[in-house]
Amino acid sequence: MAEAFGQFQYPTPPLAVFAEDIVKHYQKFLNHRRALRPEGEYVDVTPDEWAEFEEHFDKRKVELGNCARPYGSPCQHEHACIRCPMLQVNPKMLPRLAEIEKDLILRRKGAEEEQWLGEIDGIDMTLAFVRTKQADAARLAQRSPVALGIPTTRPQRN
Ligand code: SF4
Repeated sequence: MAEAFGQFQYPTPPLAVFAEDIVKHYQKFLNHRRALRPEGEYVDVTPDEWAEFEEHFDKRKVELGNCARPYGSPCQHEHACIRCPMLQVNPKMLPRLAEIEKDLILRRKGAEEEQWLGEIDGIDMTLAFVRTKQADAARLAQRSPVALGIPTTRPQRN
């Protein structure tokens, strides 16, 4: 089957169906593999490991929101958050982004007067990132949370 959008024909995507017995077999396989692993590998987390884990997430909080870099990795971008794709802006920081944009526009005017062409290029690039992040944060602010509910198991088939 295909769906038509204008002049293009897109194939209908296949449905993903997870049959109950496939899920059961997979769970059985996982339990079997877990039973084969040496018990020594199942150790409790030490307080130091837990503290290190929490510290990593504390260190990902930045002025404008949250840094989404992978766990256990340092900042690779010299904390230039405004230009970084890893920055997830908190919508409540939109006024701060507006201040940053205003400041950049003023700096650009100054750079134009002095004919600092390299500086103008840099400011233009930063402005583009700021505006993209403003749009992303505004879109995020309009989204309402999705309630996924509590998962339940299906009744057994006879
Ligand atoms: S520059 Fe990027 S990776 Fe570094 S702290 Fe900021 S958002 Fe995270």
